[in-house]
Amino acid sequence: MSQQSYETSGDAHAAAHRLRGRFGGVLHLPGEAGYDERRLPLDPALDPRPALVAEAYAPADVRSAVFAAREHGLALAVQATGHGTHVPADGGLLLRTSRMASVLVDPDRRVARVGPGTLWADVLAAAAPFGLAPLSGSSPSVGVTGYTLGGGVGWLSRAYGLAADSVLRAEVVTADGGLVTASPQTHADLYWALRGGSGNFGVVTSLEFRLYPVARVYAGIAYFAIDSAAETIALYRDWCAGIPDELSTALVLTHMPDAEEVPEAVRGRRVLGIKVMHAGSAEEARRLLRPLWAVAGPALAGNLRPMDYAQAAMGGTAARQLDLLRGLPDPVIEAVVGVGEPVTTVEIRHWGGAMASPGPDAGSAGHRDAPFSIIADGVSPEYAAVLRPHATGGSFLNFLTDPARTATAFTPGNLRRLRSVKRAYDPDNVFRLNHNISPAA
Ligand SMILES: Cc1cc2nc3c(=O)[nH]c(=O)nc-3n(C[C@H](O)[C@H](O)[C@H](O)COP(=O)(O)OP(=O)(O)OC[C@H]3O[C@@H](n4cnc5c(N)ncnc54)[C@H](O)[C@@H]3O)c2cc1C
Repeated sequence: MSQQSYETSGDAHAAAHRLRGRFGGVLHLPGEAGYDERRLPLDPALDPRPALVAEAYAPADVRSAVFAAREHGLALAVQATGHGTHVPADGGLLLRTSRMASVLVDPDRRVARVGPGTLWADVLAAAAPFGLAPLSGSSPSVGVTGYTLGGGVGWLSRAYGLAADSVLRAEVVTADGGLVTASPQTHADLYWALRGGSGNFGVVTSLEFRLYPVARVYAGIAYFAIDSAAETIALYRDWCAGIPDELSTALVLTHMPDAEEVPEAVRGRRVLGIKVMHAGSAEEARRLLRPLWAVAGPALAGNLRPMDYAQAAMGGTAARQLDLLRGLPDPVIEAVVGVGEPVTTVEIRHWGGAMASPGPDAGSAGHRDAPFSIIADGVSPEYAAVLRPHATGGSFLNFLTDPARTATAFTPGNLRRLRSVKRAYDPDNVFRLNHNISPAA
């Protein structure tokens, strides 16, 4: 970090001065109380030094911040939780939306409307009393808007698709400070681009999306001896083709901590875990899973049981590297089973289902045809080299930590269209402190 980036530019002071009169939220300049606390994302490797942090309380504050950023030549970064922030907001205006948390559930229409600071935990709690569920992911503490705009793949996505495809409308402050509604009827190109292209096109101040009638599920994880891992993965690649979309699974090869709270049978050991989420009965899930259990051997420990969907968040693997694969050929299985430091956990997840057949009104998110993803929590060049010939080369925006690879999150056709929508809505690339899509020339 250079000395220069610790200093506050004159532009930031001018922007703060302009904002102070009309901003209903709270501003933090470097050196002021609250600046250090508010500027940080989740990734401890990042130490951003924004010129100004603006905490918005209302859509009008978002508009003021966008006007100020434009007028004073500051790039604008948006952050709700900081879970998906991989580009430091150095020298820019960091707009925080965490104070704009709100949820409205319409049980008759099966729709939720949220503010941009809302977490999945808030929606789960609001929807559950009506027997409804959102297409949330593995962690309730992730922000709904960032998650959804980045595609959003969760445990119900095989049954109901990516979260981005369930968005019905969004209120958006665009780069020129206008507040528009993006929907199939209005600003349809923006509506398409937002649903996958993330924060490149504006600041979303309100998001409306579908909920689904899922109340009880059979979910959790079961742990097995690692010796059976290769054979289990080999069965998994074929078994997955025959299961219903209501069943989502992942295989995890991981080292269990040597800690008292971990069951003795798996404590301190490398194990195979099978994660399960069945939006259906326990009996049917057990019947479907029987072939896997027969190969994996008796479970050593686990917590699979019927539960409320809201309780079923299963924790994700910290994604340092994600590969999308067309299959799980033997060399990939060998690499996954044999991998070592710095990779300690590898998660093979089965995609497909509704994600693979998104329909004509789908958004711009992702590659939808890959049946499997493999996430690793570290980067090992040898392991990566074995996977490469079997990987599609594509990635998924929400699991991408390297901003240099943003383009790989989209199909070539979608990337071209995203860049032309970017040119229409943000030709000067005001929203560039993110997984950036540059405007078409
Ligand atoms: C523990 C954990 C578990 C996860 N599990 C899953 C999972 O199961 N499935 C999945 O798909 N992803 C998952 N993710 C990835 C997650 O969806 C992304 O990191 C997402 O970007 C987080 O959004 P956020 O708002 O919380 O983060 P932030 O860092 O606050 O925002 C990330 C980006 O989203 C955009 N953004 C946020 N708010 C707005 C807004 N109002 N308007 C416009 N753009 C905005 C911006 O570009 C911003 O840079 C997980 C992440 C973590 C840390």
